[in-house]
Amino acid sequence: MSNKNKGSFLKPFKSLKYIGEKPVTIRVPYEERPTAERYRGFHLNDWEKCIGCGTCAEICDNEAIKMIEIPYLKEEPGKTNKRPSIDYGRCCWCGLCVDICTTGSLTMTREYTHIDEGLDSFYILPTKEGIHKVDFPLGYVADEKVNFLDLERVEMQQLTVEERITSFVEIVKGYTKEEAIKEASRCVACGLCTEVCPAHMKIPEYIQEIWEDNPYGSVENMYTENPLPGVCGRVCTHKCETVCSIGHRGEPVAIRWLKRYAVDQLSVDQIKEIAHIFEGGKKQKKVSIIGSGPSGLSCAYYLSVMGYKITIYEAKPLAGGVMRYGIPNYRLPDKALDKDIEIIQSMGVEIKTNTKVGEDITIKEIKDKSDAVFIGTGFSESRSTGIKNVDKPGCFRALDLLAKISRGEKIELQRKVVIIGGGNVAFDIARSIARLQKTEFGEVGVHLTCLEKRDEMLADEDEIEEGQEEGIVIHPGRSPKEVLLDENGKLKGLRTVKCLSIFDESGRFNPKVDELDIEDYEGTMVVEAIGQAPNYDYLGKDILDRLEIVRGRILTDEYGRTPIPWLFAG
Ligand code: SF4
Ligand code: SF4
Repeated sequence: MSNKNKGSFLKPFKSLKYIGEKPVTIRVPYEERPTAERYRGFHLNDWEKCIGCGTCAEICDNEAIKMIEIPYLKEEPGKTNKRPSIDYGRCCWCGLCVDICTTGSLTMTREYTHIDEGLDSFYILPTKEGIHKVDFPLGYVADEKVNFLDLERVEMQQLTVEERITSFVEIVKGYTKEEAIKEASRCVACGLCTEVCPAHMKIPEYIQEIWEDNPYGSVENMYTENPLPGVCGRVCTHKCETVCSIGHRGEPVAIRWLKRYAVDQLSVDQIKEIAHIFEGGKKQKKVSIIGSGPSGLSCAYYLSVMGYKITIYEAKPLAGGVMRYGIPNYRLPDKALDKDIEIIQSMGVEIKTNTKVGEDITIKEIKDKSDAVFIGTGFSESRSTGIKNVDKPGCFRALDLLAKISRGEKIELQRKVVIIGGGNVAFDIARSIARLQKTEFGEVGVHLTCLEKRDEMLADEDEIEEGQEEGIVIHPGRSPKEVLLDENGKLKGLRTVKCLSIFDESGRFNPKVDELDIEDYEGTMVVEAIGQAPNYDYLGKDILDRLEIVRGRILTDEYGRTPIPWLFAG
């Protein structure tokens, strides 16, 4: 070593100049080391925002997060009573859980010190108070620009207003394979949607199969809970999407459109193969079903899977009930419905059409031929407002008109039509009439009025928006008062008054109106679309006297049994 590198022998004494200065060493834990702005310290979780989806636990490679059931938290649609707990013996502070959190409830503070001899204290259930309930500045939060979740839905191609307004061709065109896989990739498989789906379909499972480009496997997962997936993939009310965890920070996964995609990829024969997988042994017993709507057909499929011999009695010329005679083709094309029905028939289900129970055959005759009878006639008749003059010529009920239009029959079409009602059926008839008017007269003249305010309307938002695009004028918050007639007794419009509230304090339907706030809508045709009611007259008095009917539904036990041993309903 050369003398040059040795330095001066006075060098150690130079450090004396620091005597009296503040020490650089931080006396942890008595002093806090300052942290960076996006420091990853202990977690915070806002339990109000957290929905217990478990996505944070799912992404954690170290298995540091476990979902813990909190008994005193209330479970509600789209929200479980579980909350994530974190084991800091395993956590590597990567922050992936924060990045992926579907609601943004999970964040990190800049607090990083915890000293304790007990190992259990390193296992915590983060709340928004923090580990030591001390106020620390927020550290790492999900970066909205670099999102782990894909928050934007893949739009489905559809006909333009000009293309669709003169036709009953289905509006949406369906996903391509690439679009479906991309949309399926947005699902985090939390399963919150399954709880809300009335059929409790295996939604994350069938979406996963689509993501793996396996529509066959996807449809297999559908038939265990729903034998009408082609119909549901088009017109189900998709309540599941209202609770989709992705919807908290972005657009919910297009669950309904993904179902439609998978079913449309398979031929009838492929789906028949799937539908038959679940078949059990044959039974000698026979079950008759009245009505071939959604409940009748579903009942027929699952009973035939169990081996029963099924006969359905249908009053109309074709099977499908409200799906065929109530929903316009631009929403549910016949070919999609026919496909689902053909598969159910392939199970050996016999459908006797043009057979009205009570007229062509009695309930007693049906009972004598069967071991059990299921009532699946549903809500098949339109209700009326009962307002003045609503029984005059020119006034119609929505379901009657929709049935005629679906059969291609001519209706007494007018240039100016007023629809009463704000639900999906009201929009079905309004949009059907708009198409007929545009084709015949070159212009749309439909006014739609309902009790609900615009943001309370019962129809799907898509229906309302698309209806408006097609030229339907909406008058929300109005109560129908009377059908107006001219001096010759001919229909000339509808008088409405302002609706102040719809339900009373006890939640009963009891609209309050302002009689002085009057609006008239011109029209030579009025259509009521305020809801549907069942008609069980065909059962006869003896049977009806033994049944309890609440809000139009026959009361049954959890197995669909009525007090009459051979009679079931659902
Ligand atoms: S991802 Fe977010 S919302 Fe879901 S359980 Fe974890 S903290 Fe709660
Ligand atoms: S569709 Fe939405 S709610 Fe359903 S499992 Fe996927 S992310 Fe969860």
